[in-house]
Formats: sequence, structure tokens, C-alpha cells
Amino acid sequence: PFDLTGKRVYVAGHRGMVGSALVRRLAREGVTIVTVDRNDIDLRNQAAVFDWFAKVKPQVVFLAAAKVGGILANDTLRADFIYDNIAIATNVIHAAHRNGAEKLMFLGSSCIYPQLAPQPLREDMVLTGPLEPTNEPYAVAKIAGIKMAEAYRSQYGNDFISVMPTNLYGPGDNYHPEHSHVVAALIRRFHEAKAAGVKSVSVWGTGTPRREFLYVDDMADACVYLMRVYSGAGLINIGAGKDITIAEFARLVADVVHYRGEIIFEPSKPDGTPRKLLDVGRLEELGWRARTSLADGLKQAYQAYLTRR
Ligand code: GDP
Repeated sequence: PFDLTGKRVYVAGHRGMVGSALVRRLAREGVTIVTVDRNDIDLRNQAAVFDWFAKVKPQVVFLAAAKVGGILANDTLRADFIYDNIAIATNVIHAAHRNGAEKLMFLGSSCIYPQLAPQPLREDMVLTGPLEPTNEPYAVAKIAGIKMAEAYRSQYGNDFISVMPTNLYGPGDNYHPEHSHVVAALIRRFHEAKAAGVKSVSVWGTGTPRREFLYVDDMADACVYLMRVYSGAGLINIGAGKDITIAEFARLVADVVHYRGEIIFEPSKPDGTPRKLLDVGRLEELGWRARTSLADGLKQAYQAYLTRR
């Protein structure tokens, strides 16, 4: 396995939910964690990224920087999602190659899989059909990153790998009222409704879509694990291995928040893809499984929300 000990490890996106979880997890590994503030280096700026890499020469790179958001943000900020994410991927991956990084992990997303791919989603389903239209720009950018990692491996022999996380949640999530993902959106909405004594809370869509959720500290643990044990061109899905309906999920969030009012579905808002569950067979074969139950993870996420972590 690849030895991380004593290495200079760059976490790109360390202020984000995943990047900050990676920094927490890597703190236990005996590595030197390197990060850079977005006000100092804009990862979309090729010259700035190349200069910084030439100076710092990270030996290991976790590429967790991205412009991310929920279904509405993806659908409305389509240009920002494709431009920012392609620029970040191309700059960081090429800079890692040019400066001799020993290993790089590119973090993708489950939305790279075709809208109608059979569930659970297997890694080899990528590029077998049309994408979900609402987040197509983001997905295309992530597919570009995956294909770059693959191409640098085949042309130059760089040990660059890609992992595809399912829907993530936890400390450091974005609680924007419209642009957040469903977990943060509902934690905030139920909490505010409870605090204000509001009798009903609306949840987007029909409640019937199914989603899989993984606690972000489990995600970080899986990334560090795979950085050690995995080397190959194929993607690796990172998920919890089970999904639930948005209606069941909303009920669970209401329970965790102790919100006693009514839940009303808003079918005029988008449902997105009907189901999104990753096949985690490869991940389990490599010896990793999620530990945190959804109920426990949501309790921790709610505590983090209350303390604005
Ligand atoms: P997706 O997995 O890419 O669709 O990401 P989201 O987390 O944005 O949405 C997941 C599901 O939750 C979709 O079916 C949404 O319609 C549903 N949902 C229900 N209420 C909300 C909400 O307030 N915000 C978001 N983002 N999604 C919601």
C-alpha cells in the first residue's frame, strides 16, 4: 500500500464540508497538511495554481475543491458550475503532474452517472447514456476530471485515482435556503419552524425520490483508506449502500430536530432523478464500510448546525 507517513499532503478545498473533514481525518495520520486560502490562490487561475505548486510541491493531493450546490443552484448557475469545476480540475491535476505529485485523488460525484442507469449505480455505467439535465454542467465537469486522472495515468503513469461519493452531509455543510442540498435545507427549515412555532414545513417535490446519504467523516475516512490501498484507472464509488425516500428522510430530520408540525410536499419544485444509490461492491471488496447510521449522523449534523460548525 501507498505510505502517507511524513508526506506533504495538499487538501484542495479545505474550507468545504469534505475538505474540512479530510483535514480532521488526516490530522491523525502523521502527515504535513498543506492548505491554501481561496483569497490567496483562486484555483480557477491557472498561473496562480502552477506557481503555487512549483513552490510547495505537494507529494499527495486530495482534490476536494469544487463549486457545489443543490438541485436549484446546479440548474440556475449552469455556467458557473461548468466553468469553475473544469478550471479547478484541469489546473490542479496538471499542476500535480508537472510537479511530480506521487498520488492524487479526484473527488467526483454520483451525478456523473446517466439519469436512467440501472440502480444501484455501478462504476462502469459512466458515459453510457444521457445525464440528468438539471445538473448536467456540473456532471460534465466532474467527468472531465475523472477522464483527466485516467488519461494522465495512461499517458504519463501518474498514480491519479477518482472516487465518486454519494450525497454527503455533516459539519461544514452549506445552509443556504435555496442553494443547499436537501439535508442542510431540511435541518435548517425544521429548526426554524420549530423555533418560530410554525405549524407546517414544506419539502420540495413529491417525497418519492430515493436518495442515499453518507456522513462526511465516513467519506473522509474512506478517502484516506483508498489513498493507501487503491491504485487503478477505475472509479470507486463511496456510499452507505442503502437509500430511503425523501418523505421518510424528511420524517427522520423532523424527529432529530424535534419538530412536531406537519410536513407538506411541494410537487411544483423539482424532484430531480428518481433514485440515486451507488453500488459499493468495489469499495467493500477493498475492505471499507460506512460506520455512521443516518440517525446518528443527522444528530451530529444538527449539533453542528446549532453551533454553526
Ligand atoms: P440531488 O440528489 O442532486 O437531487 O440533490 P438535492 O440534495 O438538492 O435533492 C435531493 C432530493 O431532495 C430531491 O428530490 C429534492 O427535490 C428533495 N428536496 C426536498 N426538499 C428540498 C430542499 O429544500 N432542498 C433541496 N436541495 N432538495 C430538496
